[in-house]
Amino acid sequence: MDVSDILEPLNDAQREAVTLPRQSALVLAGAGSGKTRVLTHRIAWLIKTQGISPFGLLAVTFTNKAAAEMRGRIESLLEMPLSGMWVGTFHGIAHRLLRRHYGEAGLPQNFQIMDTDDQLRLVKRVTVGLDLDEKKWPPRQAVWFINSQKDEGLRPKNIEDYDDLYLKTNLAIYEAYQEACERGGMVDFAELLLRAHELWLNHPGILRHYQERFSELLVDEFQDTNAVQYAWLRVLAGENDNLLVVGDDDQSIYGWRGARIENIQRFSEDFDNSRTIRLEQNYRSTGSILKAANHLIGNNEGRLGKELWTDGGDGDLINLYSSYNEIDEARYIAERINRWVADGNRHDESAILYRSNAQSRVLEEAMLRLQLPYRIYGGQRFFERAEIRNALGYVRLVNQRDADAAFERVVNVPPRGMGNRTLEEIRHIARSEQLSLWRAAKSLLAVGTLTARKKSSISGFLSLIEDMDELTQGVDLEQLVRTVIERSGLISYYEKERGERGQARIENLGELVTAARSFDPQENLTFNPPTENEEELSLLDEFLSHASLEAGEAQGDSSEDCVQLMTMHSAKGLEFPLVFLAGMEEGLFPHRMSLEEPGRLEEERRLCYVGVTRAMRHLYLTHAETRRLNGTDNYNRLSRFITEIPEELIQEVRLKNTVVHAPNFKLGKTEGEFSLGQRVHHAKFGEGVVLNYEGQGKQARVHVNFSEGSKWLMVSFANLQTVK
Ligand code: ATP
Ligand code: MG
Repeated sequence: MDVSDILEPLNDAQREAVTLPRQSALVLAGAGSGKTRVLTHRIAWLIKTQGISPFGLLAVTFTNKAAAEMRGRIESLLEMPLSGMWVGTFHGIAHRLLRRHYGEAGLPQNFQIMDTDDQLRLVKRVTVGLDLDEKKWPPRQAVWFINSQKDEGLRPKNIEDYDDLYLKTNLAIYEAYQEACERGGMVDFAELLLRAHELWLNHPGILRHYQERFSELLVDEFQDTNAVQYAWLRVLAGENDNLLVVGDDDQSIYGWRGARIENIQRFSEDFDNSRTIRLEQNYRSTGSILKAANHLIGNNEGRLGKELWTDGGDGDLINLYSSYNEIDEARYIAERINRWVADGNRHDESAILYRSNAQSRVLEEAMLRLQLPYRIYGGQRFFERAEIRNALGYVRLVNQRDADAAFERVVNVPPRGMGNRTLEEIRHIARSEQLSLWRAAKSLLAVGTLTARKKSSISGFLSLIEDMDELTQGVDLEQLVRTVIERSGLISYYEKERGERGQARIENLGELVTAARSFDPQENLTFNPPTENEEELSLLDEFLSHASLEAGEAQGDSSEDCVQLMTMHSAKGLEFPLVFLAGMEEGLFPHRMSLEEPGRLEEERRLCYVGVTRAMRHLYLTHAETRRLNGTDNYNRLSRFITEIPEELIQEVRLKNTVVHAPNFKLGKTEGEFSLGQRVHHAKFGEGVVLNYEGQGKQARVHVNFSEGSKWLMVSFANLQTVK
């Protein structure tokens, strides 16, 4: 391996960024211009030529998947395994710091990470505890309030309430919530970041240690850092002037989660020695795709302004498909991908991107129908599924009795006759005596005023957990998880749930045992194996943290060749030869929540820019005239984002071009042709539109969209009449 291998595949501006002397710098550049490549090659260059050990590098990426990819690329550039380098997400890195320095951070050693679901439950409980009406003070809003304060680095004591009822109430909830977290040793996602920041502020010795350790800090997707993340970085960089950030203001898409696009503008002021380097050549997309993206984003105001160009050809025009409804849209996309694969391409070179997770179900059905293997990123992730959370709730309680979130979760799952009143009594004792729910339950038992039935339901639960603990002393992780699941009664509980759903849940529980067996913290992508004399966490603690933090960013085996389905948010940083943006409709994308506020509309447009610039060669935009989503029918106009792309870059794939005439369908008693989009009448279901068909002769079936939903009908029985 030679240095030229690192520097040759770079253009001049990229090479300048990669070989900067030790100095802070901002690489500001549009999509696909090689920002991530600059980071990767810079790391390789630092190690190879500057004698910097991987141990002295800290790289922040946006997802664990990105971290793994970056590590892989550097390893292949350097042709050696990288150990000791910290590469991960802000959350992952904060978590690692807190595990190491839990004492200084004011946390118990076995602190638990609460996921968003646990957090909502706890806020709910706190709201009720404060005698507030849940309808007037929805827990979801309070969660949002709490998280936004934490994202801004604010503790309750830093917040002024201006004698305003809304602020005062939310502050009270925040305070009570925080107390409950401290009591239970629980940390939510925003808290991870805030505590890690406070760790710097309160412990100069620890800060100095990491300042000396890290020769260089590198951050990808810098436009999406929030206030606390930025403050954390600034403090860590200190006077070292060793922070390299890369980002694109036009791809800032997490404003709703506290990200601050202004951090990019502030950077040059805060680091006044820093260099700014711009990259303008795009290596990812064809000319047409790039022009479309440039025009689209040109509609936003207050940009830092950059134009992308490519020296490749224009390539295909952008395709626009107008469908009747979401089923037709999904069918079209699936068929298009089918053809793509038949032409000799891989499934995983194609991606379907959408604005909202709810859109995926219909798309999945279309994939299944054509037997296209697919993989969903985001959405209901493995560790987020109810059955997995329940099983892990038991494991947590066995590990730590005071884990309130886990107690709440499983105390009555499966139902064991624990009435709401009993639970309320337990919560009441916990609140008034500042006890965990576990201890409160014990003390309620000890009072002895309970009816025999209540008593036995509580003591049954407590001794179940104690028994599990005893049974699993000294066994390995897999055996522990297996035993807990078996004893919990969850399997027979789900067996009662009818149909495939219950079966799928039981299979998932089996999967969890498998995950426990193969769990290897060394491979835990969030971090590297410990290299200093740090205390080892117990494997179980690692496993539980992994489950909360990582929540498996994808389902299925990543090595399989699958069509990629994900929201546009999760597609950030990725690229695919063939890309579909589905659901290009006003109200869906841009999302209706954004229509009122110009700032949010611009964020939606940036999201669309992200979507468009994921495409390397072929881009399809699809929309539906009517769409049933979350149970309601919508008639949406074409998304304004499509009209913002110059007409001459778009070609419409009209339905009439794609209509295929069915081979001699028997339609009622008449021989005839039967085409997609044809209106038909059915005696019971009324009028509908033909979406699809399969089979021939007696076996022929048609898929018809009626007002009450779509149905597959046997042509020979349905007695459909064509409607002119
Ligand atoms: P995004 O803004 O979407 O994160 P990015 O700026 O990080 O994009 P990269 O993902 O680093 O861009 O690069 C985009 C594509 O262009 C990748 O396939 C990358 O390998 C390729 N690429 C980058 N620089 C060069 C170059 N100098 N020569 C050839 N290909 C390049
Ligand atoms: Mg990138």
